[in-house]
Amino acid sequence: MKAVYFDGELRVCERPKPLPGEGEVLVKVSAAGICNTDLEIIGGYIPDFKGILGHEFFGYIEESDDTFLRGKRVTAEINIPCLTCDMCMNGGKKHCKERKALGIRNRDGAMAEYITVPIGNIHLIPESVSDKQAVFIEPLAAALEVTRFIPTDKEKSVLIIGDGKLALLITMAVSAITENVTVVGKYPDKLAFLNYLPLTATLLKSFRKEFFDVVIEASGSPSGFELALSCVKPGGICVLKSTYKDNVSFNPSNIVRNEFKIVGSRCGDFKRAIDFILLQNPPLESLISGEFAIKDAIEAFRYASEARVLKVVLSMKDFR
Ligand SMILES: [Zn+2]
Ligand SMILES: [Zn+2]
Repeated sequence: MKAVYFDGELRVCERPKPLPGEGEVLVKVSAAGICNTDLEIIGGYIPDFKGILGHEFFGYIEESDDTFLRGKRVTAEINIPCLTCDMCMNGGKKHCKERKALGIRNRDGAMAEYITVPIGNIHLIPESVSDKQAVFIEPLAAALEVTRFIPTDKEKSVLIIGDGKLALLITMAVSAITENVTVVGKYPDKLAFLNYLPLTATLLKSFRKEFFDVVIEASGSPSGFELALSCVKPGGICVLKSTYKDNVSFNPSNIVRNEFKIVGSRCGDFKRAIDFILLQNPPLESLISGEFAIKDAIEAFRYASEARVLKVVLSMKDFR
């Protein structure tokens, strides 16, 4: 089968079709999104990763012991925990030290014609979720994870830093809870995707610093991180949502003086993301900047790394 493979070099090549192991299903992949994590991996962010990339996808179950599942349109959670370690036994499965993660850690991903995944990782995609929306279930789940830090009190203010794919999804998620939201970004055309929401979108160059109860850093840039720390109200909270390619050097005195919290946030709940799409019908399709056939994956990755580009999708079949 065709696959997007990385072992220090990115290429499209033939790989053996995977065989489902005990408790696993075989999924024929329809489409997979390129995420910043994929761009970071090919840039060397995870030095020992070797395998097929891709963790945002949907497809159809081709082989499963459960006959009900055959032919169903599905996506899958990316973490595969060991289920026996301390973290797994105490409710911290996503932090399992032995975990594998599709296309990220010791496990082949979804940028291929087929992928195998544990049956427990599978989520059925309801009929009313479109194919284009389905590609966003994984990143939307991650975006929705920040909402547990968002106060429902309308007096409390939220600042979101960034206007990339993840920042826009976070903004959609947060705006469903509160209208007291400010987003600061660099690109007017990206911020324009948020026009349908009742919020304040500001370009970085005209942003006047003030304090917010919750600041979400989703730019992934050291300057975004510094801006975030300087905008948290005393006693407030700063949520870090991006990983950073570069190190950040900063003076932490401000955190001490203003006694605020900094928390990290990673993956989220797929079920919630699916429900969010069903209830809110967010315009996720508009975030797709380009679609490429898997054979053109190298070009797709190059395009996805351009600053103005949002989600790039590799398709193994036509979208509906
Ligand atoms: Zn991702
Ligand atoms: Zn474990």
